Amino acid sequence: MKHIINMKEIKIAGRGPAGLMAATAASGACGIRIYGFPERRTYPVAIRKEDFDVLISFLKSKKRSDIIKLLSPFPVHKARKMSPHHEASFESKDPIFYVFLRGNTKNSIDSLFSSSLSGKAEFIEDKTNLDNCDIDASGPKRFNVLGTGAVIEDIRSDEIKIYYNNRYADKGYVCSIPFGKKIFVLSVSFGTANINKSTEKLKSLLKSETMFNERLEPSYYVTGKENYFYPPVPCRGNTLICGSAGGFFDATRGFGHFYAMITGFMAGLALSHTGSFSEAKKEYIAMWKPLLQERLKTEFEKRVSFFNSFTNNDYDRIIKEISGKSNYVSISRQKTQSD
Ligand SMILES: Cc1cc2nc3c(=O)[nH]c(=O)nc-3n(C[C@H](O)[C@H](O)[C@H](O)COP(=O)(O)OP(=O)(O)OC[C@H]3O[C@@H](n4cnc5c(N)ncnc54)[C@H](O)[C@@H]3O)c2cc1C
Repeated sequence: MKHIINMKEIKIAGRGPAGLMAATAASGACGIRIYGFPERRTYPVAIRKEDFDVLISFLKSKKRSDIIKLLSPFPVHKARKMSPHHEASFESKDPIFYVFLRGNTKNSIDSLFSSSLSGKAEFIEDKTNLDNCDIDASGPKRFNVLGTGAVIEDIRSDEIKIYYNNRYADKGYVCSIPFGKKIFVLSVSFGTANINKSTEKLKSLLKSETMFNERLEPSYYVTGKENYFYPPVPCRGNTLICGSAGGFFDATRGFGHFYAMITGFMAGLALSHTGSFSEAKKEYIAMWKPLLQERLKTEFEKRVSFFNSFTNNDYDRIIKEISGKSNYVSISRQKTQSD
């Protein structure tokens, strides 16, 4: 295995999934300093099975079973798609989504990765200058996606619900992600509403009984912004950029953990196993482009045509159409609403 020859230490900005994955990929090959604060809130996040499978097969091809062991998410087999007046339910033997816990608690993906780095990486709870780091995993800098989520405790659900309604998520959707006795109700909005409005809309949905047939009282909220764009070369000066900082983001679903983990891994690996920054840059690009470029482009185009133009009537039509098709079972909505 060829180790880095002119870089004794890799400096990483950001302690999210991209930064932690970059540190894990590089650990053992060189010293690591990772800057940033641990995630304070605990909340479940989902990734699609297709994405998870790509991540696992990529890690297998790099013989990183140590990382695969850390990724032991909770499988979800049921999904329910909803519009204002229709519902369709889908159940599969194979998982449809995998769910991880984020945050500072035991079993969260953050804690599992941080503990596995103990003694191999220095964690510095501070911000760093992004231009002086080797890997920028500092999250989105611009934004065109608003994400706000509410964590509800002591409620059991075994399905992911996805609700398309512009009234509650402007040009987007609301989904609920189950994990044990918690659910995370996440509103993803591609519209121009400001972040405070998206939280207000989510609160009104949780009080309305329209998505869950009961009023829900969240324990806490998690809000944030994301940025999707079709990424150019994700490098700046002598810094490799990964995760949301590089625009790696599923523009259709508002999901970014898959892209953050896989590009973080690639950046960490490239820097720790090459002899110079220019070699690392070439290796990084050679890894992400064939695997992700086409996906990113397709997702971007889908988003532009789908969410930008769809009204609630379009969502009603689509959900009605998929009912009864390809294993989707139609369910009539119990409650109707004003729009
Ligand atoms: C409410 C919400 C729910 C979401 N749910 C899902 C989901 O279910 N599934 C999914 O796949 N995706 C989800 N996403 C998107 C997902 O969270 C992001 O795509 C993912 O976290 C990106 O990872 P990252 O490591 O690139 O960046 P981040 O997770 O944003 O981490 C970057 C870190 O770097 C820190 N930082 C910034 N500047 C500096 C600096 N100068 N020095 C040091 N540190 C710095 C930031 O504070 C942050 O902690 C959600 C997003 C939101 C807002």
